Amino acid sequence: MNTKTLIVIGGGAAGFFCAINSARMNPDMKVTIVEKQKQLLSKVKVSGGGRCNVTHACFDIDELAKFYPRGQHFLKKAFHWFKTNDTIQWFEELGVQLKAEQDGRMFPTTNSSQTIIDCLLKESLKYKVDIITSCEVIDIQKQEEKWVINTLSGNFKTDYLMIAAGGFGSSAKFDWLKQIGHTIEEPVPSLFTFNIPKNPIIQLMGVSIPKVQIKLVGSKLQTVGPLLITHWGLSGPAILKLSAYGARELANKKYSFSIIINWLPETNEQSLRSDWMNIRNANASQKIGGKNPFGLPTRLWQYFLITCKIKEESRWAELAAANQNKLITILTAQIFEVNGKTTFKEEFVTCGGIKLNEIDPNTMQSKKVDNLFFGGEVIDIDGVTGGFNFQNAWTNGWIAAKAITEKSKAIQM
Ligand SMILES: Cc1cc2nc3c(=O)[nH]c(=O)nc-3n(C[C@H](O)[C@H](O)[C@H](O)COP(=O)(O)OP(=O)(O)OC[C@H]3O[C@@H](n4cnc5c(N)ncnc54)[C@H](O)[C@@H]3O)c2cc1C
Repeated sequence: MNTKTLIVIGGGAAGFFCAINSARMNPDMKVTIVEKQKQLLSKVKVSGGGRCNVTHACFDIDELAKFYPRGQHFLKKAFHWFKTNDTIQWFEELGVQLKAEQDGRMFPTTNSSQTIIDCLLKESLKYKVDIITSCEVIDIQKQEEKWVINTLSGNFKTDYLMIAAGGFGSSAKFDWLKQIGHTIEEPVPSLFTFNIPKNPIIQLMGVSIPKVQIKLVGSKLQTVGPLLITHWGLSGPAILKLSAYGARELANKKYSFSIIINWLPETNEQSLRSDWMNIRNANASQKIGGKNPFGLPTRLWQYFLITCKIKEESRWAELAAANQNKLITILTAQIFEVNGKTTFKEEFVTCGGIKLNEIDPNTMQSKKVDNLFFGGEVIDIDGVTGGFNFQNAWTNGWIAAKAITEKSKAIQM
């Protein structure tokens, strides 16, 4: 029998998932992972603060796809093959239980990313996946029906090639993939926090607000969610979401832009103005510093009063019109000048990569070259924080494995 071969470039989440599932679905195929680093699954190891946020408890395909600023339409098709509940089941069948936290993020019950690594390594051993580490691929070529993979430590030939090499920060790093006819969406960072140097609000570092609305000035982009004030600026889910959906726009602005924060997202400037007299009358005899009717953190409320030159001991009934106006504006439409970004250490990803219209979402196969497959962050898909980036890697890896298996079995028959 003519044994078919698959080489997977990249020993990360997408690469392992493709390799294991291919070897499992077609035990006659010889599967090899080629990884440039000494370590395997290094991102899985550090992911989710060492706990690995494996996936997200969202089981509706349309809802799930919304968490991906790039790749929504592509993933709506791909998730039909393998989505969150399949991931949970896949790991569960191997004895790895996942638990959902209140916000939907799913982690192994051990709270350790090592559980996921051990599971993937054990499974690759079981299905005899060969693993070559410290082996960087520098070039790939198609020679007749075979792929030739040139690495710093020798050349390999294979029938099927899966590229799961992760995200690259610069376009030049994609040159070896451009040479085989693929085009690249320029890579830029996603999932970062905003720097607001010298803004007095950073004195409130550590204060978090459960729900704010943030708008990017000069754009339709806006997000709602928790916000965290840090010693360099603004972080938290609402900021990270804006950094993801606005990744390209913000890169074009060279990370210098303005945002408007509504600290009371259930209302707006106009309706707060019309409600103001009721709020004022209801609290008339109270000291303004001690009576914050909006449920905002005390330190934040005090900062607003200082900013509006309102004395904490003055009574609500004594509030001067000018100060009152300023307070309403700040509460509902405070402007911040952002200058620079900071990497979010818990999770960061690259926006950009292999163009999606060059890949079939039902097989993950290249539409340009036969027997070439892609998966994970190397393609132009990225999600917000919460386990969505790994879910994409599992989905792509599994679909590619299924397609490679079907191709290899069809030929063998
Ligand atoms: C700190 C951090 C925490 C994160 N936490 C989470 C989380 O909890 N949940 C979540 O969903 N997402 C998380 N992410 C994002 C997630 O880790 C990635 O989206 C995911 O790892 C992508 O998987 P991948 O297999 O495509 O790429 P990678 O995991 O990056 O794997 C690619 C592999 O290919 C190798 N490689 C690259 N080029 C070559 C070459 N030329 N030759 C050979 N090998 C090569 C690399 O060394 C690497 O090992 C986190 C990211 C970071 C940085």
